[in-house]
Amino acid sequence: MTTPSPLPDPRVRPAAIATPGTGGLVDRHGRVATDLRVSLTDRCNLRCSYCMPPEGLDWLPKVEVLTDDEVVRLVRIGVEHLGIREVRFTGGEPLLRPGLPGIVAAVTALSPRPEVGLTTNAIGLSRMAPALAAAGLDRINVSLDTLDRARFRQITHRDRLADVLAGMAAAKAAGLTPVKVNAVLLRGINEHDAVPLLEYCLEHGYELRFIEQMPLDAHHAWTRGEMVTAEDILAQLTAAHTLVPDDADRGAAPAERWVVDGGPTTVGVIASVTRSFCGACDRTRLTADGQIRNCLFAREESDLRTALRSGATDAEIADRWRIATLSKLPGHGIDDPSFLQPSRPMSAIGG
Ligand code: SAM
Ligand code: SF4
Repeated sequence: MTTPSPLPDPRVRPAAIATPGTGGLVDRHGRVATDLRVSLTDRCNLRCSYCMPPEGLDWLPKVEVLTDDEVVRLVRIGVEHLGIREVRFTGGEPLLRPGLPGIVAAVTALSPRPEVGLTTNAIGLSRMAPALAAAGLDRINVSLDTLDRARFRQITHRDRLADVLAGMAAAKAAGLTPVKVNAVLLRGINEHDAVPLLEYCLEHGYELRFIEQMPLDAHHAWTRGEMVTAEDILAQLTAAHTLVPDDADRGAAPAERWVVDGGPTTVGVIASVTRSFCGACDRTRLTADGQIRNCLFAREESDLRTALRSGATDAEIADRWRIATLSKLPGHGIDDPSFLQPSRPMSAIGG
């Protein structure tokens, strides 16, 4: 089933809407996408319960996955024709992609040079951090939900906590600073881990951000009543530390931030569900198999891979991307009774 396209927002002047052949990635609600998330693989070496089932998924056949050159070409079109200013590589687990340092080097060589980031579970990062730093990587986000080995294994179905901590340390040593840490809290599992995570990050100079769990699990088991909310997380943190709202302009950044114990370190909360920030969204997404998604929760995708492999020009591909952006919905609608979870889970979309 597909969601009908929304009516154009009458507040948006027609002139703000991109016409094919010109301009950036503008949607019917006047938002401009300048931040590109690129999933490099749907595969992963962890099985975080909120993202992937323990048995894994049917991986994309290799022939359907974009090659390194195809990824770089699409990113280049985004940067040169469509105003993309930030590129973040994700997955699945992007460190599983052997060509990652080469892709990062090619993207940091584009003009105008985009900011290039990576979101990773950090397994293998202790080996790869120097090569990624040398390739020009600007930012790194590591996902870590608990410091307790048994709970880590319970959440991820793998006993790899030590590898993750070593990977974070290696990123810091390679100068990929500040290392940002993403944590998802799950009711009845790691819901009380907010303060230990914050104290570990304060001690090591990492910047922690909590992400509210979203309905993007493969089993569709998420429920609104069970999720740990931003309010729950802030209650835990303020019981142990002084938090003062960070005055810095938030812009399109999804995290609300607080200065901890007088600073300089901050902690962030991405309240994707309870305080959604869709109105300021500046994202566009490319899946590992070359589909454009204009939202994590989109129920439709636009195929760029077929065009790419059929000899389309850069200008033709840019037009397809612009058209795909027009239909971006005004919000994710998680709280709407008619909300339907997308068919791909998070690991196959690219978080
Ligand atoms: N494997 C890499 C990692 O874990 O960082 C990159 C891909 S992962 C899908 C990207 C981010 O999405 C991670 O920080 C993860 O915690 C987050 N994530 C995955 N499923 C989620 C969900 N259902 N709700 C909220 N965040 C989720
Ligand atoms: Fe893998 Fe990242 Fe999903 Fe965990 S959150 S299963 S590490 S893709």
